Amino acid sequence: MKFLCLAGLMSLAACQTSNRVTPFAVTLPADEPVKVAQQGTAVPTADMSTLTPTPTSTPTQTRTPTATLTVTPSRTPTPTTTFTPSPTLVIGTLPTNDSTVTEGPPTWTPPPANPAAEIDDHYRLYRPIADGGVNWVDRTYPYGGTSGGRLQVHHGVEFVNPRGTPILAAATGTVVHAGTDASSQFGPTLNYYGNLVVIQHDFQSPEGQPVFTLYGHMDRVEVENGQRIERGTQIGKVGDSGIAQGPHLHFEVRVGNQFDFGATRNPELWIYPFFKFGTLAGLVTDASGNILREATLQVRSTDIQRYAFTYAGDTVNADPAFGENFTLGDLPANYYEVSVTDNGRVRFRETIYIYPDQTTWIDVQLKP
Ligand SMILES: [Zn+2]
Repeated sequence: MKFLCLAGLMSLAACQTSNRVTPFAVTLPADEPVKVAQQGTAVPTADMSTLTPTPTSTPTQTRTPTATLTVTPSRTPTPTTTFTPSPTLVIGTLPTNDSTVTEGPPTWTPPPANPAAEIDDHYRLYRPIADGGVNWVDRTYPYGGTSGGRLQVHHGVEFVNPRGTPILAAATGTVVHAGTDASSQFGPTLNYYGNLVVIQHDFQSPEGQPVFTLYGHMDRVEVENGQRIERGTQIGKVGDSGIAQGPHLHFEVRVGNQFDFGATRNPELWIYPFFKFGTLAGLVTDASGNILREATLQVRSTDIQRYAFTYAGDTVNADPAFGENFTLGDLPANYYEVSVTDNGRVRFRETIYIYPDQTTWIDVQLKP
C-alpha cells in the first residue's frame, strides 16, 4: 500500500480548490494493461443513447464488442446470456469534470441481483448548490482526505464555485448560527470558517441524534440566527472567508453537537445521489483485517475512471450505519472495477455493480 507522507506537509488551510491544485504529489496506481475480453465471451454492447427496452431482444451483429475496458474472464459476476435492457439504467450526463472518458460505445451487461438493496441508506440532504453550478463533490479533497498529504484531514467536502454563487439550504431546518466564527468556535481554531451558517434539521440521525449542516467560507451570510429555513432557500454566497484558498463552499454534516469539530460525518452518505447515480462505500483493510489509512482505490467503468482515498486520520468518523473508511459518490449506475495496486502489483481487484439511488457496499481486504 502507498501511504502518503503527512508529517511536515500539512498546510493550515482548511480547504482548497481543485482549480488551483497542482497534480497530486503522490504516485497514483499505474494503469494496468487492460485485458480485452475474448471475442467468444464478449458481452453485449450497445449505444445506450439509442437503446430501446425490448425485453425479448438478443444481441445483434451490429453490437460489436469494443476494445475498451470489457469484462475479463476472471471477473464476476459473469454476464448472463439473456439481454434484458432496463430503461432505468440509461447512463446520464456525467456530473464531474475530472472523469476520464474513453472512446467508443459503453459496454453494458445486465445487472446482477441487488444485494445493495439491503443497505439502509439515510439520504436526507439535497445539494447546497443549484443545478447549473458545480453541485458535485470535489474529488481531490474528499471527506477524510488530505489532498495528497498537503492539507489537514478534511472534515467536510468542497463544492468549488466562483465567488457569489448562491448557497442553498440542504434541507429544511432552523438556523442555529449565522455570522463569523470569531467568537464561537466551530473549527480547530477561531476564525477558521470565516462567515458560516449552521442549520439544525428537523430530522434526526438513525441513532436519534440531532443533525446539522455547516456552510463555511461564505462571502455573504443572508440569514439570521433562529430563522426557519426551507430546503433550497438561499442562505448566502460562496466566498473564501476564514482559512481558505480561493472561493468554494465547504460543506459539513455534524451529528450530536454543532460546535464539535470531531462530530462530523461523511456528507456523501447523506446527500441524495443524482438521478440514476449511486454511491460507493466500503472498508479497506490489510490481510490481517487492520483498517488502512489513506489507501488509494481506483474505480473505473468503461466510461470513467476515478480515485477514492480512505480516511487519513481518526478525527473523522465512520458512519454508524455503515462503518466505512471511504466513499465515492455520484457514480452512474454501471459495472465498475475496484482495484488497489502497490508498485504495479495488484493487491485487490473486484468488479461490482453500482446501483442507482442507493449506496453500494464493498469490502476491500488486500492480499498480503
Ligand atoms: Zn473544506
